[in-house]
Amino acid sequence: RVMRRKLAAGNWKMNGTAAALPELQSLATSYPDASVDVLICPPATLLHRAAEAVKDTGITVGGQDCHAAESGAHTGDVSALMLVDAGASAVILGHSERREDHGEQNEDVCAKARSAMDAGLKAIICVGESLEQREAANTLDIIGGQMSGSIPDQSTGENLVVAYEPIWAIGTGKVPTLDEIGEVHDFIRARLERRFGEGVGRSVRLLYGGSVKPGNAAEIFAVSNVDGALVGGASLKAKDFSGIIDALQ
Ligand code: PEP
Repeated sequence: RVMRRKLAAGNWKMNGTAAALPELQSLATSYPDASVDVLICPPATLLHRAAEAVKDTGITVGGQDCHAAESGAHTGDVSALMLVDAGASAVILGHSERREDHGEQNEDVCAKARSAMDAGLKAIICVGESLEQREAANTLDIIGGQMSGSIPDQSTGENLVVAYEPIWAIGTGKVPTLDEIGEVHDFIRARLERRFGEGVGRSVRLLYGGSVKPGNAAEIFAVSNVDGALVGGASLKAKDFSGIIDALQ
């Protein structure tokens, strides 16, 4: 039986300036040696200072996106190597807001993930269906396609994390039933085992994301193949995020 270390990942999205750093520091000092991995993904402008703020604590920091190339003529973009240079250990890729706002396709996400993994980052690859797709009973097809297209061949239990984020549950307060979460997570696990073999397939961590709060975290974490959460809104306040970390420990 493979032991997967639990992971609580916070996605600050386009929120946070230097004023948020003391809050991050207080979160870090309350978990000197957490029994789970805790990751905060602040905006790129804050990454280096956030890394300094959590230095020598149990918390690490990550990016929210990266470019597929190492460097070059890509105004406004940030490469995986730059994230590493700023102190990142991971990067969120293919978030539905990136897929929507920036037209990212599965193959773009895959190229970014290859670049991230080559740079030594963990790639947290997001998949998830729209409400329309769920209502048309296409959820598993959509997620299977996103997985095939977005997850690179070089993936391992160490460099890949998959986040299941139903688009209609992000920032809405709506959450799938526990059975629905379990169905998708079991499906993702089976697909990973089929593609990468049991050893790797069973070692990849699967996060649920979409309106996770201190009040619903424990029941979600009890669902099979849920190894943690990707948290948006509730990661912005140390008190809320602590409640989620505590439910995971
Ligand atoms: C997210 O966007 O990754 C997310 C899960 O957001 P929220 O927790 O706010 O629904």
